[in-house]
Amino acid sequence: MQKIKIFNNLTRSKEELKTVTPGLVKFYSCGPTTYDFLHVGNARALVVGDLFHRVMKSLGYQVTFVRNYTDVDDKIIDRANELKVSSIEHADRFVKECEKDMQYLGMIPATFTPKVTETMKEIIQMIEDLIKNGFAYEINGEVLYHVPLFKEYGKLSKVQLESLQHGIRVEVDGHKKHPSDFVLWKPAKSGEPFWESPWGNGRPGWHIECSAMAKKYLGKTIDLHHGGVDLQFPHHENEIAQSEAANSCEFCHTWAHNEFLNFGSEKMSKSLGNVVTIRKFVETYSGEVLRHILLSVHYRSKLDWSEEAIEKAVQEMERIHQFTIDLKKAFINGVIGEEMVTDLIVTEEKIKEELANDFNVPAAMGLFFGMIKDFNRVSKMGALNTNYAKKLREITSFIQESTGLVHKDAEDIMKKLNQTKKNLKGSSAGDEGQIEKLIEERKIARSTKNWARSDEIRAELTKLGVEVKDNPDGTVSWTYKA
Ligand SMILES: [Zn+2]
Repeated sequence: MQKIKIFNNLTRSKEELKTVTPGLVKFYSCGPTTYDFLHVGNARALVVGDLFHRVMKSLGYQVTFVRNYTDVDDKIIDRANELKVSSIEHADRFVKECEKDMQYLGMIPATFTPKVTETMKEIIQMIEDLIKNGFAYEINGEVLYHVPLFKEYGKLSKVQLESLQHGIRVEVDGHKKHPSDFVLWKPAKSGEPFWESPWGNGRPGWHIECSAMAKKYLGKTIDLHHGGVDLQFPHHENEIAQSEAANSCEFCHTWAHNEFLNFGSEKMSKSLGNVVTIRKFVETYSGEVLRHILLSVHYRSKLDWSEEAIEKAVQEMERIHQFTIDLKKAFINGVIGEEMVTDLIVTEEKIKEELANDFNVPAAMGLFFGMIKDFNRVSKMGALNTNYAKKLREITSFIQESTGLVHKDAEDIMKKLNQTKKNLKGSSAGDEGQIEKLIEERKIARSTKNWARSDEIRAELTKLGVEVKDNPDGTVSWTYKA
């Protein structure tokens, strides 16, 4: 097991990941509200949660990973009413769509993916505990958390309660004891779904679900909690207040937040501006490309949403998968690369260290690309040394498991990438049939030594955005230019 260092937002410092049980990480990540297709912005938190899960497992930890679905919410109820369907049915439909998106993004399954509708008993129990412990009060079927009683409120977001009092709009109805008090249980309005409770028919507020689900599946104290940076306040601050007041012990030791996807960038073209859902991106480009973009910068850095980011991802993915294809085809039992094996063992260690250092994927991938570059240089010289080839394969499968940035079916990915390049070019790109015909015609021109015609065809292909490659074995291949 390799010790992981992680930036803990509770202390605002990078620390060794502390776990209650050695070697076991109890990990919770806030999941999506399922009222519509997910926005590409949502994809970043999903993929970063998946990255933490994969890296911890790959470095030898046992991980119990909980990611919830918010399937009871105002947005869901409003949308369902507009569509004249039941809100539970509507939420369920989008849980399924969300699961599909996660597959497109190459995510591995979480250990538990609870829904609010399945956790009602535990939610109600936790609200009862909060009332019993004096931290919550009921007024006319509504239960509120009384924030000033939780002395450590603000310890994560560093928000001061005094500044909150002045900073937020005070509710006019004045039923709150303090303007920062938040809802744990709200009474049902007509036409809304409801559940029975000691305070009458109603439904839970948003924050309580994560506290209740974390406790149900992971216990009172968990090791690592993750979410988008926008959730730090008030959602995560409220989770801490609820869990610690209900359970009378520490809720979570380490809090990690990923930065936004930046849509305000000038580089974001109009065409990309229209691709707002994960599904639309997958249909236009591919889920693998989206994953690659999302992991191309460190999770705590902002990421500009731009066409350039897609182009860069495509180029890198082609480099990776051409390498895996070449490695599979390479001759072994030779001597090439023999003297590089020792260096490669060092590289492997460094890759693991980078991933263990606050999940530094860009640094790890930099080392991986260095390894590919060396391979591309020496592999043309002859048959590879068996140990060299074996080490290359081991490192590649480690990157595959830990980041999900290497895909098993390289040929299929290369085809998808070619399609992505075509779609990036838009209407100026030639269609495959037309290109194949020209390639055939060029072959004939070359075999009859009609160089003038062959050059003409190459120029035509260039205009169609195509790059032609004459392979050493006499075959011809082509791709859309990146
Ligand atoms: Zn949450």
